[in-house]
Formats: sequence, structure tokens, C-alpha cells
Amino acid sequence: MIIDTHTHIFENEFDEDRSAVIQRAKDAGVGKMVLPNINAQSITRLKELADSDTNLFVPAMGLHPTEVNSDYKTELETIKSELFSGKYAAVGEIGMDLYWDKEFEKEQVEAFETQLDWAAELSLPALIHSRSSFKETVNAVKNSRCKKGIFHCFGGTLEEAEELLSLGDFLLGIGGVVTFKKSTLPDVLSNIDIKHIVLETDAPYLAPTPHRGKRNEPSYITEVAAALSKIFNLSIDEVARITTENAANLFKIKL
Ligand SMILES: [Zn+2]
Repeated sequence: MIIDTHTHIFENEFDEDRSAVIQRAKDAGVGKMVLPNINAQSITRLKELADSDTNLFVPAMGLHPTEVNSDYKTELETIKSELFSGKYAAVGEIGMDLYWDKEFEKEQVEAFETQLDWAAELSLPALIHSRSSFKETVNAVKNSRCKKGIFHCFGGTLEEAEELLSLGDFLLGIGGVVTFKKSTLPDVLSNIDIKHIVLETDAPYLAPTPHRGKRNEPSYITEVAAALSKIFNLSIDEVARITTENAANLFKIKL
């Protein structure tokens, strides 16, 4: 059984064929899918999907860093009351993204630190997005009491991986990028213990080879497992077993 620790199939990209996407995921061996929220508007979509199969879906609640703007305090209020209703396995998707612009950098830091506090208060793991903001992300986590979670879509150096892992009980979320031809990730990961790794798709984004450039979906996670099986010299089944165990421990999922 495989756990997709990061997928957004509640989003509109899947409105036309969501049930087929879910069936393909099940057929590929995906037994759980973690659903990180985007913003206040996506809560209804996320809950509707999560409630449709509580055995399959693991919902997470948070405000995505690229959704932090001048209105972020109102968004955070809505998200906080939803999160504290108690049905969520993680706080996410949260983090820092300074890739597109830095206009709301200060607000992003505030929103991130606020949500890390909620994670600590509720003893939940954080699902952390970090793009062009390694230092800022590390500083926020260091300043917070939140000491567990996933650095989703990890794509850094070995030094960065070691620094992130030193912050607490954190795991590295590995997805489609590891299958890209010019990716440096295989080299980096070969120096890391697989006990620190979980699988993800980040669907609809970052589809693995040979689906690169198309809409991503949870069934493609088998390509990620296959890439890891080469890197760690383990069978695909072993990769699935170990990474599923890592994720289940973090999210307190009974297997
Ligand atoms: Zn995401």
C-alpha cells in the first residue's frame, strides 16, 4: 500500500473525471491520500471529497503561502476555526514562497509562524512548502514549537536536507522531480536514510516522467516509487512499505 502524502485532487482540475482518477489511484495501490488545503475558498471542495471516503482521504487544513495577500488575516480566521473543529490530521499547506514575488514576504512569515503555532498547539504535523525561501523557512521553523512534519517537494542539496532533518521529526516529501532526467535529487537522496522519506505527487502539478508536462494524478506515484527503488537498491514493494510506514507514523494512521 502506498500513501500519497500530498495531493490536491479536490481542485477544479479534477472536476471532469475525479472518480476515474480515484479508481486509477486505488488500482495503482494508493491506499491513503493526504489532502492539503489551499485557501478559505477551497475548504468546501476539500471537505466534500474527504467526507466521501474517510478511509481513503486524510484532510489537512492551512493557508498556502502563495495565497497570502493583504486579506490574509480574514483567511486565517476562517482556516483556524475549521482546523480547530478537530477533523484534521495535519496543518497544511503552509510555508514560504518567494519565487514569484516578495510583495507579501512579511505577511507570509506571519501567516507561516501563526500556523506553525497551531500545529504545535494541536500536536499535529505541518505540511511545509518552501520555494526560493530556504533560510526564511528554516528560521520560522526554528522559532516555532512545531517540531514535526513534512518538507513537501524537497529539491535541495544534501546540506539542506541535513539541516531540515535536524529541526525535529521532519520527513522529506519526494515526488515527480526525482524522475526528471537532469534532477540532482537521486544523488542527494542516495546519501540519506529512506526512513526520512515519504512519497507524494502534488497533483495536479509536477507529473513524473513519462507524464511530465501533463496533469499529475495520484496513480503516477508508482513512477516515484520506481525511481526510489533504483536509488536505494530496494524493491518497489519495499520502498512502498517503508515510506508508507514513515507516513503512517507521522499522521498517526493505523495500517
Ligand atoms: Zn501542494
